[in-house]
Amino acid sequence: MASAHTFDENLAAATEHLARFASEPVLHLINGERVASTSGETFDDHSPIDGAHLAKVSSGGAQEIDAAANAAAAAFDTWSATPGVERKRILHRVADLIERHAHQIAVTECVDTGQTMRFMSHAALRGAANFRFFADLAPGANDGQALPTDHHLNYTTRHAIGPVGVITPWNTPFMLSTWKIAPALAAGCTVVHKPAEWSPLTAQLLSELALEAGLPAGVLNTVHGFGETAGQALTQHPAIKAIAFVGESSTGSKIQAQGAPTLKRNHFELGGKNPVIVFDDADIERALDAVIFMIYSLNGERCTSSSRVLIQRSIHDAFVERLAAKMAAVPVGHPLDPGAVIGPLIHDRHRAKVCSYHQLAQAEGATVITGASIDGLPSGGNWVQPVLYTGATNDMRIAQEEIFGPALTAIPFEDEADAIAIANDIAYGLAGYVWTSDLGRGHRVARALDAGMIWVNSQNVRHLPAPFGGTKASGIGRDGGDWSFDFYMETKNIAVAYDTHAVPRLGG
Ligand code: NAD
Repeated sequence: MASAHTFDENLAAATEHLARFASEPVLHLINGERVASTSGETFDDHSPIDGAHLAKVSSGGAQEIDAAANAAAAAFDTWSATPGVERKRILHRVADLIERHAHQIAVTECVDTGQTMRFMSHAALRGAANFRFFADLAPGANDGQALPTDHHLNYTTRHAIGPVGVITPWNTPFMLSTWKIAPALAAGCTVVHKPAEWSPLTAQLLSELALEAGLPAGVLNTVHGFGETAGQALTQHPAIKAIAFVGESSTGSKIQAQGAPTLKRNHFELGGKNPVIVFDDADIERALDAVIFMIYSLNGERCTSSSRVLIQRSIHDAFVERLAAKMAAVPVGHPLDPGAVIGPLIHDRHRAKVCSYHQLAQAEGATVITGASIDGLPSGGNWVQPVLYTGATNDMRIAQEEIFGPALTAIPFEDEADAIAIANDIAYGLAGYVWTSDLGRGHRVARALDAGMIWVNSQNVRHLPAPFGGTKASGIGRDGGDWSFDFYMETKNIAVAYDTHAVPRLGG
């Protein structure tokens, strides 16, 4: 899992690749041109590692969104009519370039987000895999079904819905952007991407690689800026037919309201507070490793993190003791250090939010067990120690709210029914994890959990053709495989008569 590069090599690469941002502002990409905001407004991007100034970023507003949406609309007819095999060729070329620049992307992501190289080296390559997977599906994207009746042949075709908006968060920005943009482009849509304001740099790299790969002007446009300005304008623009959004549940609600006057189609991948249920007959060693991995990887800034561990009472104390010991051995360190697992959190404001739950946990009557020390790490960084909250009950805020950091809440349960009741007693429904050696129980609990994705005896291992998404406050819609095309395309039914049905005669 560890990066193939040493810390010094990663640092040298980061110094080389980030130098450009110090001298040239990050610009929008609109209709194939790099442009600043008409207002001249910019915002500053800082590294979570030490607060270092990384870049001045053009701050887009309604004017830039309008230009980008119009460019996407102008490019739509040609791009959607481009044969699928040609779209496939270009998207594979994007993947080739991502692979060629994977180390550059990974070090940039580490410095911009605080995520560690251990995971970002894979995330960059996963970005390429996303492009390849959807590229291969592009030639068949328009295919439909034949639904014959006695008197008609009904058949369906699919057509790209039009220009779409993609709005992404900061937790793994490059990978998540490709997960949305690749299927949209493969389906024949044109895109306006609004990346998160706390992590703008790898969106710049993606747009550059897409241009270099031969994506025509206007097919992918990137407008930087804040959610309340650029983001809102994108969700309200009449030329934009759909919004693919990944972010907080409360933002999803706003986007739905903002898009109502223009009847936007929305796909929402939102927050989570995902249960991992450990029964007393589970393979305890594998369950322990999976629980630790699913909350302390990616800084715990992960929508599918197993942030609530429900442990059967008969094994609770021993399991918690082992969890605490393992957590203590999870290293916090510089994101470019290949040995580091947890890096600094994205922003000081987010660090303050995560840490506020430690006081809250104590106030609610839980015990706070802290992990690795953060002494000696660069000053000015948003470092946090991993934590485990024990003695919690499901009604506590530490059990109900998405903390989005390396913080795990442990809750005991009595039996299968109790585990299911606790797991489902939550506003969210993104993912769930079940550990048991009883096959029937694994299936039963998986069926009973109100969530979009369940893993039994497994951590989150993604299969790109499988559906991804949540229920309740965790989202609306699915993507992955053909589900992505269903979102980015309109299905049309065509009925052709065999001339055998009776046509009603009115009026003589
Ligand atoms: P956020 O909702 O604050 O921001 C996400 C994006 O939305 C940003 O680009 C932001 O600028 C934009 N935005 C904010 N307000 C907007 C508005 N009114 N109109 C249009 N755009 C607006 O989320 P975040 O803090 O960046 O990301 C963390 C959240 O993302 C967590 O809740 C996490 O669970 C969620 N997430 C979900 C998934 C998933 O697949 N379900 C994956 C990753 C992250």
